[in-house]
Amino acid sequence: MEWLQCIACGTKYDALQIRYTCECGNLLSVERDTRLDRDAFDDRLTSRSAIDRSGVWRFREAVLHTDKVVTHPEGATRLYERNGLFFKHEGENPTGSFKDRGMTVAVTQAVRVGATAVACASTGNTSASLAAYAAQAGLKAVVFVPAGKVASGKLAQTLAYGATVLSIRGDFDAAMRLVREASERLGIYLVNSINPFRIEGQKTIIWELLQDLRWESPDWIVVPAGNLGNTSAFGKAIREARAHGWIEKTPRLASIQAEGANPFFRSWNEAFATRHRVAAETVASAIRIGDPVSYEKAVTAIRETDGVVEQVTDAEILAAKREIDMMGIGCEPASAATLAGVHKLRAAGVIREGERVVCILTGHILKDPEANYRPENIHEIEATVDAVESVIVASPLGR
Ligand SMILES: *Cc1c(COP(=O)(O)O)cnc(C)c1O
Ligand SMILES: [Zn+2]
Repeated sequence: MEWLQCIACGTKYDALQIRYTCECGNLLSVERDTRLDRDAFDDRLTSRSAIDRSGVWRFREAVLHTDKVVTHPEGATRLYERNGLFFKHEGENPTGSFKDRGMTVAVTQAVRVGATAVACASTGNTSASLAAYAAQAGLKAVVFVPAGKVASGKLAQTLAYGATVLSIRGDFDAAMRLVREASERLGIYLVNSINPFRIEGQKTIIWELLQDLRWESPDWIVVPAGNLGNTSAFGKAIREARAHGWIEKTPRLASIQAEGANPFFRSWNEAFATRHRVAAETVASAIRIGDPVSYEKAVTAIRETDGVVEQVTDAEILAAKREIDMMGIGCEPASAATLAGVHKLRAAGVIREGERVVCILTGHILKDPEANYRPENIHEIEATVDAVESVIVASPLGR
C-alpha cells in the first residue's frame, strides 16, 4: 500500500487525501515499503489480459494498488535500434505521447478519490491524454492551454475527446499557475505532473525499457525536459529499480532543454545553486516552459544518476527531427531534442564511443503537422509521364 510523502520534510499523508503539496509547500511523492521481484513483470509479457498488457499496469505493485483501473491499455511501446542508438517511441501510446502513462494512473486515482471533474494546464499532449482518459472514465475534463501556442494535432484531439478548452491569454507558466488556483477553489482534481500519481505511471517508461534490454542498464537515457515531470519520474524509476535489485548499474540521465526554454540548464550550470525562471520560446512547443514545477525532484534525479543537463538550439532540434523522420521513425519536435543532445554531448566527449544510449521519443510525428511540412518535396504537375519523369530525374528522392 502507498502513502504520500513530502520530498523535503518527510511528512506522510494518506494516499486517498486530495493534496498535491505538503503543508510546508514542497512537492509530494508516492512511497511504499514492499520489496518486489521483477520476474512477475516478465511473466506478464505473454499474458492476454488488458491489465498485464498495459506497459504501466504490468508493474502495478510498484505503481498503484487498486483493483479498478482506467486503462486503454497504454505503454508497450517499441524500442528501435538505428545507427548505433536506441529509440524508445513513447509516441506509440494511445493518444500519441508518453503522457498516457501518467494519465492512466492519475485518472484512476481521480476515480478512487471520487472526483467528478479533472483539470490540467498543458502545452497540448497532457490535455489530449487527459481528455481521452476522462472520456473513458466519464469525468468532466477542463484543460488550460496557452492561447495560440498548441500544435494543431494536440488541440484537435483534445476537442474530439470532448474536453472543455480554456485558451489562456498568457504562456504555459501562467496557465499552470491559474489551474492550480482554480482547481483548489473549485474543487476540481488536478492532474498535472505536480500530481505525484502521474509520476508513478511515467516511471514505467524506464522499467519497460529495462525489460526490453533484459534488465541490462544502458549507459545513458536521454530525455527532453520541459516541466521536468519525466526527468523526475526517470530518477525515481532508477532509484527504485536499484532498491528492488532489478538492475545492477545506474544508467546516467541526460535531460535536454531547448535553448530558448532552458531554466533547468541554467541551474545545472551553477551546480543547482539557484532555481531559474525564464520567458520560454522554442519551436518545440511541448517543452516551451519557463518555470518547471518538478524542479526539486529533477535535481535529485540528475544528482543520483550522475546525470547531465544540456541545451540545444531550435535549428539543432529541427535537424535532428529530420534525421529521426528519415530513419522512418518520426517524432514531434520536442522529442528530437534527444538526438540533438546526443550529438552535442558526443562532440563534447561526455557521451563516449561505444556507450549504449537510449533516446526517449516522447511524442508522435502527427502531433505537430506544421513541423512536418516540406513544401520543397511537393510538385504540382500536368497528368503526363513526361512531367513525372522531369520531376523524378531532377530530384534525389526526397532528401
Ligand atoms: C510533456 C512533453 C515533454 C516534456 O516532458 P516534461 O515531463 O514536462 O519535462 C516532452 N516532449 C513531449 C512530446 C511532451 O508531450
Ligand atoms: Zn513538507
